[in-house]
Amino acid sequence: MSKEVSIIGAGIAGLTLAISLHTQGIPCAVYETRPEPQNIGGAVMLSPNSLKLFDDMGIYDGLKRLGYSFDSLYFRDLAGSLKETYPFGSVERHGYSGLRVYRFELIDLLLEKFNANNIPIHFNHKFSHVVSESEDTVTWQLVDGTTKTSSLLIGSDGIHSRVRKYMYPDLSPKFTGIAGITAAVPTANLKLPCPDYKMPVTIMSPSHGAFVIAPQKQDGSEVLIGKQMRMAELSREGWEKFYADKDAATAFLRENAEVFGDIAVTATEDIPHEHTNIWPFYVIPELDSWSSDNRRVLLVGDSAHAVPPSSGQGISQAVEDVVMLAILLGKGRGEKKDLGWWQSFRQNRIEQILLLNARIDRRRLPKINGSEEQDDDEQGFDLDWLYGIDAVTEVEKYVSGS
Ligand SMILES: Cc1cc2nc3c(=O)[nH]c(=O)nc-3n(C[C@H](O)[C@H](O)[C@H](O)COP(=O)(O)OP(=O)(O)OC[C@H]3O[C@@H](n4cnc5c(N)ncnc54)[C@H](O)[C@@H]3O)c2cc1C
Repeated sequence: MSKEVSIIGAGIAGLTLAISLHTQGIPCAVYETRPEPQNIGGAVMLSPNSLKLFDDMGIYDGLKRLGYSFDSLYFRDLAGSLKETYPFGSVERHGYSGLRVYRFELIDLLLEKFNANNIPIHFNHKFSHVVSESEDTVTWQLVDGTTKTSSLLIGSDGIHSRVRKYMYPDLSPKFTGIAGITAAVPTANLKLPCPDYKMPVTIMSPSHGAFVIAPQKQDGSEVLIGKQMRMAELSREGWEKFYADKDAATAFLRENAEVFGDIAVTATEDIPHEHTNIWPFYVIPELDSWSSDNRRVLLVGDSAHAVPPSSGQGISQAVEDVVMLAILLGKGRGEKKDLGWWQSFRQNRIEQILLLNARIDRRRLPKINGSEEQDDDEQGFDLDWLYGIDAVTEVEKYVSGS
């Protein structure tokens, strides 16, 4: 009988899970449908809650060398007045500044750990379905017909997870009615309101939503520019057209740019199609269980709880999931009660993040006349609960107290 834990999907969740299981002395292998590592989506935001875990994995120094460091996001009105400051990291308070780093650079650093530790990863291997599950093993199949038997099968295969279909054959991701369009342009193109203009910035207009500008690359020489829109869900063909229509995407970024000032006009003058991203925000409805009845099949990351990008927490939450799970399993705590504790701890964080996302979306979308759009946010953003978590200690506390 194979003792291997099989991980489906080599996104951030799958890669960090494999490294974390390896650290716990649990043999594992990753199976990824793509022929090579992911190289999608441009730069991503990383906050102290995951940077601490990346530090434990030995890749923080590499990330810091490659990424753009910042502590706050600034929300300004059209007149340029600072309305709010959203904390994203702080060395003094949480040990780390926030970082924006290219996803492929993060993945490359994780893959270096695979090489250094001989963790097996199989590209061009597409998971098909679970064949059978017993108390101790799970037998599953790749689309090429190969079957494998593993001690555990963990689905880190993203929002459209096939592993999840085993437990929830009829469940589909739910569209939130919001999409984001972003692009990367040289910072030198931007006419800044003043030489020491602070970014990342969200410039808010009550009737036109918001224009977001966030520096990236270690020296900040490039910025992400972005806007969000409300829209109705499209059919599969409709989404394909929407993704393919880069002219419409760049036109949307350019639309009403003058409202947001010269900085937005200059940022949108020359937008390379190949650096444009189109992202409809889908969520996974809360799942009853992230593990199968016999607990041989588990879900982590976006396959369990995809969260839209508004608060930049997708990766950080996936990494918290997998590190906590690996420690639990490493301590031999994979019983129903243990996985139940893990899931409810994780789900509680996800719910708080969805509420936080809603607060940010209210600042980034045009207001609907006199509707639900109450500015209930006078209290500002106190995010110690988000960044101050010690995921490792939380598991240790659970294990020693139960
Ligand atoms: C455009 C974009 C920008 C983003 N920006 C941010 C950001 O700034 N900050 C942030 O925190 N998060 C961001 N996210 C979200 C973040 O990337 C995810 O939440 C996070 O990476 C966790 O994803 P995951 O590993 O669970 O799934 P994914 O990244 O979706 O990885 C799933 C992997 O599984 C593979 N796979 C799928 N099906 C199969 C199969 N049948 N067999 C084998 N392999 C399979 C896929 O090819 C993929 O490699 C962004 C996402 C996108 C799309």
